[in-house]
Amino acid sequence: MFDAYVQTNRDRFLDELMAFCRIPSVTSEGDDGREATQWVQRRLEAIGGEVELIALDGAPPVVYAEVGPPGAERTLLIYNHYDVQPPDPLELWETPPFEPQVRAGHLYARGVADNKANVVSRIQAVEAWQATRGELPVRIKWIVEGEEEMGSPHLALLAERHGHRFADAHGCLWESGYKDADGRYLLYCGLKGIAYFELRARGAQSDLHSSMGTLVPNPAWRLVWALNTLKAPDETILVEGLMDHVRPPDPDELEYVRQLPFDAAALRERYGVAAFVGNVEDAEALVRHLYAPTCTICGIHSGYGGPGSKTVLPSEAVAKVDFRLVPDLTPELVHEVLRAHLDKHGFEDIEVIPMDGVRPARSPITSPVAQAAAAAARQVSGLEPVIYPNMAASGPMYTLCDAFGIPAVGFGVGWTGSNVHAPNENVRLEDYFDGIRLMAAFIEHFGRTAAAA
Ligand SMILES: [Zn+2]
Repeated sequence: MFDAYVQTNRDRFLDELMAFCRIPSVTSEGDDGREATQWVQRRLEAIGGEVELIALDGAPPVVYAEVGPPGAERTLLIYNHYDVQPPDPLELWETPPFEPQVRAGHLYARGVADNKANVVSRIQAVEAWQATRGELPVRIKWIVEGEEEMGSPHLALLAERHGHRFADAHGCLWESGYKDADGRYLLYCGLKGIAYFELRARGAQSDLHSSMGTLVPNPAWRLVWALNTLKAPDETILVEGLMDHVRPPDPDELEYVRQLPFDAAALRERYGVAAFVGNVEDAEALVRHLYAPTCTICGIHSGYGGPGSKTVLPSEAVAKVDFRLVPDLTPELVHEVLRAHLDKHGFEDIEVIPMDGVRPARSPITSPVAQAAAAAARQVSGLEPVIYPNMAASGPMYTLCDAFGIPAVGFGVGWTGSNVHAPNENVRLEDYFDGIRLMAAFIEHFGRTAAAA
């Protein structure tokens, strides 16, 4: 019945997705989020949602909704966002980013994979459930924010002011996800955090003739010497105390991760690198990718870098450095140990300016919400899903989930060629309609965890 309903309503469902994708909700470039939030509000109200638009300090509104019986034994938190990445470079799009088009079984539009198709497919799954199976077996509390692509600057405030409304959730479904090249659903139960810094060295008041190198200290050298103490040539992070805060992986989880498919050689070939850091291959490469923190020089700038030569002694040198964080590192802690490390090595003069910071999130791959997602993925795809303890990328999961002790899982309707954040972003239509069935199967399995608990 459920599948027949989805089949009957296929064209309307696709039209709805296209209508949502037509809204150019690039809040990072000034869109106020009004059109997108009104669209989401209307659509959630149509499935019986009690919807509120929450305004926080001038940020684009957050849609907060509750759907399903208040007395349900299980409460599911869902996190999505309605904002999308800027569409540039426009000339690389085959069709305009905000004029969704179906071509050869794919729907192309900015934001469709990240993460508008997930928003709409989840709502349509609830509609189809109610139409064919009646009342939902779970209470859903839904957050759809509008600043994810800018690093969710107001989400902590939302959690602080409104966290009591969703803190009772038994699990959280995160915004988006993908199938791998073999059609397996990739699930993840966490995200890495990030701590981003600008390191700055200063010398003379202004740039000087480089002959003054006999007398005047060069900030570019100062910065190079300071950076040199952060990491060894074997890629060990040398910032004192940092590795002491890295939580060792759970042994059972590690055993599971070692069995997961990961083709390091194919990845090296795609990136054009002869060897990975530490010469790791396959299982070791995946373990390192998921569990190791990083210390990355994202950019260095000082003096003259243009064509030809210019004999200059620069007055300033700047490096942008980021650390990807695993539990139990935090941006504040990394700032503290980095400052202490530089001081101890005689670099009190190097300024450390903290920029973005997000805490890492990770929940057990054995949590009921993760296992419900795995069962749903098995049921819909016929394939064993891949469950990651966390992704190597970062996001604000800690704020909504770990901070309240809510285990999380992410899955979605994207595929390996979805071109997320890039031109010609797309989802495959079959994945999209599978996603509606996946959501329904997930709701069913998650509802059942009440009886099992
Ligand atoms: Zn996203």
